[in-house]
Amino acid sequence: MGVDLHTHTTASDGSDSPFDLVEAAASLGLSAVAVTDHDTTQGLEEAGEAASRVGIELVRGVELSLDWRGGAMHMLVLLVRRPDLLHSRLAPVRRARMRRNLQIAEHLQSLGVEVTMEEVKQEGGEGTIGRPHFASLLAKKGYVADIQEAFSRYLGRGCPAYAERYRLAPDEGIRLAHAVGGVAVLAHPLTLGLEGGDLSDLLGDLAAQGMDGMEAYYGAYEPPTRRTLAKLARRHGLIPAGGSDYHGRFKPQIGLGVGRGDLTVPDRVLEELRAVAATASNARQPRGS
Ligand code: AMP
Ligand code: ZN
Ligand code: FE
Ligand code: FE
Repeated sequence: MGVDLHTHTTASDGSDSPFDLVEAAASLGLSAVAVTDHDTTQGLEEAGEAASRVGIELVRGVELSLDWRGGAMHMLVLLVRRPDLLHSRLAPVRRARMRRNLQIAEHLQSLGVEVTMEEVKQEGGEGTIGRPHFASLLAKKGYVADIQEAFSRYLGRGCPAYAERYRLAPDEGIRLAHAVGGVAVLAHPLTLGLEGGDLSDLLGDLAAQGMDGMEAYYGAYEPPTRRTLAKLARRHGLIPAGGSDYHGRFKPQIGLGVGRGDLTVPDRVLEELRAVAATASNARQPRGS
């Protein structure tokens, strides 16, 4: 059957509504799907309704960007038991994102790229606005050929329209994951740009801080890379998790459940994550409300 533990909906920078995404996951025959929008739990209620209607397990989650060497370390919070608490704890992060978005718009305007925040908001709809919405708008207006080019010319880190934003530190992110009853999973670890011993050292540090898992079965990685990462995760006592990182039309090369076509994330990894969340719950859950 398989699972997909990393997807985005219209609540952030995906293009499928939570309902449609969960329904599609069930049609594919997946046994569980995680909805992991950036910095928000807004899509989870609708996703939950869809999941009970179509008979698939919904794993409630978010994806957080953490502060690491000034760059981005992404972390999934999965199996969240208190989505409302998580959402309210992320309010400062969402406000910082909005300030960053305004800066990106200003940078683009000063580069002679005529985009307004109003237009970007139309791309983003109701959800968290992110760089893929800017990228899509730039493509629609003919400034770039596609989303990829928008990132490589304007929006990527080090590019002229890039702007920094406040992020939680890794240990804060891990503590937050646990405080809301969930597990912490390092996302797409190769984005960190570390190799061999350096990656291994970092994983050791993160595991010591309470990181529970690490994505190995990631949609965009080659199968041998997935196997290598799964072994590396085990060496540090991390559960090798994974998912497609599906974004619909904002990442057209990645399919739900299948990544580039060859992804399978074993059901067993979700069972292992659930076991960790359950055994840890008494120690981790804050007392009272
Ligand atoms: P943001 O949260 O606004 O910083 O945007 C981050 C999102 O942009 C990521 O989750 C990816 O979906 C997307 N992204 C980042 N870098 C690229 C890239 N080089 N090409 C396409 N999408 C990207
Ligand atoms: Zn995204
Ligand atoms: Fe990510
Ligand atoms: Fe993602």
